[in-house]
Amino acid sequence: MKRITFLGLGIMGGAMARRLLDSGFDLTVWNRNASRADALVKAGARIVATPADGARNAETVIAMLADDDASRSVWLGESGALAAMDRGALAIDSSTLTVGWMRELSAQALARGISFLDAPVTGSKPQAEQGALNFLVGGDAAAAERATPLFAAMGRGHVHVGPAGSGALLKIINNFMCGVQLASLGEAMAMAQRSGLDIRRTADVLAAGSPGSPIVKMVVERMVSRDYTPNFLVPLMVKDLTYAMEAFAAEGIELADARAARARFIEAAEAGYQDKDIAAVVEPLRRD
Ligand code: NAP
Repeated sequence: MKRITFLGLGIMGGAMARRLLDSGFDLTVWNRNASRADALVKAGARIVATPADGARNAETVIAMLADDDASRSVWLGESGALAAMDRGALAIDSSTLTVGWMRELSAQALARGISFLDAPVTGSKPQAEQGALNFLVGGDAAAAERATPLFAAMGRGHVHVGPAGSGALLKIINNFMCGVQLASLGEAMAMAQRSGLDIRRTADVLAAGSPGSPIVKMVVERMVSRDYTPNFLVPLMVKDLTYAMEAFAAEGIELADARAARARFIEAAEAGYQDKDIAAVVEPLRRD
């Protein structure tokens, strides 16, 4: 099996790397906080001290990091991965990032003779653990074809969206809609709670009816049980809505809905839920 290096072992990256290992890939891992690699190392992955150490001689390097700043520093910073990669290797960033940064990184990679794909994912922690993610792929079609066995190990499929940055753009559009739905769900559930409606019954009606999109169905249960074990952290939704507002503004669309939703997630972060699941967006609105 060819050597694969995975950079970023957070909630998503840790589970995705595990799928690669379990599928028999020769896996090298790196994370800023090295202790997050412990379970993978026990299961057979090789750990390295820097992204550059991981990138040397790797056939493919995949990153799953918080945001543009983290991605930039891991690919291009001191001991960054890109400069250490072999010509002809493949770089993939699966984080949710801006289109502008993905196009810039793609251009830098291509200039070094390295193929690049932006390949963010839909699905959350359970889908990452079960290998049921969907990859939204931007970049060269031949590179997307080459990455198919990796996508198949971590997901149920991939969509080649278009040229560099297209995957990132579709992901931002996707998460804009998720963020807005969850902020409104938080408001709806808080309204039910404050006004004395039965929370369980309210959740069941919303989930079974027209508002019951897959994400509403999933997250409303966490709101009912007040279980905010992180699947998707509150600050990451603030980030996604910020990136969406910027991308839409560049096309002349003022995202009023995203602005309002983002304010709700910022409220939750400021109320102490910054390390909690996005379902906690309801908490500052509740009246106990
Ligand atoms: P997470 O658990 O917070 O993990 C973030 C990762 O980024 C960690 O490995 C963290 O390292 C690393 N990181 C953060 N800042 C860094 C920096 N300055 N330098 C180097 N590494 C840095 O987040 P996640 O849920 O796995 O999400 C990862 C990406 O996937 C995000 O772009 C997110 O928007 C996207 N995404 C998430 C979900 C979801 O449901 N969770 C679904 C789809 C897409 P440390 O461990 O050292 O902090």
